[in-house]
Amino acid sequence: MSVPAIASALPPQLHVFVRDWLSANNILLKSRDGHVLIDSGYVRHAPLTLALLAGARGIGHEQLAFLVNTHCHSDHVGGNAAIVRRYGCPVAVPAAEAPLVERWDGKALLYDYCDQQIERFAVDRVLPADTTHVWGDLEWRALAAPGHDMGALVFYNAEHGILISGDALWEHGFGFVMPPAIDPAALPATRATIDMLGTLDIRIVIPGHGEPFTDVAGALDRARRRIAAFEADSLRIARHALKVNLMFVLLDRQRMSLADMPAYVDRVGIYRELNALCFHLTPARLAELLVGELERSRAVRIVDGDIVPAADHAG
Ligand SMILES: [Zn+2]
Repeated sequence: MSVPAIASALPPQLHVFVRDWLSANNILLKSRDGHVLIDSGYVRHAPLTLALLAGARGIGHEQLAFLVNTHCHSDHVGGNAAIVRRYGCPVAVPAAEAPLVERWDGKALLYDYCDQQIERFAVDRVLPADTTHVWGDLEWRALAAPGHDMGALVFYNAEHGILISGDALWEHGFGFVMPPAIDPAALPATRATIDMLGTLDIRIVIPGHGEPFTDVAGALDRARRRIAAFEADSLRIARHALKVNLMFVLLDRQRMSLADMPAYVDRVGIYRELNALCFHLTPARLAELLVGELERSRAVRIVDGDIVPAADHAG
């Protein structure tokens, strides 16, 4: 199915605002009983998130009843504080994430640990796994989807076969997974989550990043192959985690000094810790390895001594 065909196959009260890779997609579920928004994007894009929500495909001047997050990474909850200021609505997060948000654990939530920007927000309600919720006049089952994020939920509507997958499943892969040296449970959990999703009758996936898609079997297959590659090589999964994080920060900043990279990877927690546990390199050598791989895969270019995102990665 083409992208417009997929969009028109969704129930009319369900709207997907497909964002770039810095901000997660926002899913709006409209109902006379109260509108619900799932995920709020990255903090730098909060003005655009508010504009989309208030715009023609959004809710105009109506109230938002509820803001839900699939998980609490910065690209999914970055608009939470701005939305609460505008609409005064309660925020619901997965039950397993709530204590991390309450104590604002910047390491577990990958905020300062990954050098990501975020505005603090409060949790009003918790969503346990295996609970059912009616949002947008549709029944959604909250299912635990640990792996990329160990507390993440996905939301499944059996009637229409719709999965709101967050970062647990994308059309081509899933959100980066911590290497076994940091969390030995993460990769096995990723595999178990993909297997669990394979048991559901899913017709359309609304991922956290990228367009909604219908080739679910193909996506599950690609995810399984990526997991197998990570299982076979613990340095590959560690390099992948660091490259994804560096790319994310670069999309936020748009340029970073190449000369500052050794000090950067020595200062920011995730690089420092993975280097100590997995790579055992000098900071200069680690920086060279990561930037070199991103350059070779044409994700970045070096311009006047700065690393910049390649054109097709520009946010
Ligand atoms: Zn994530």
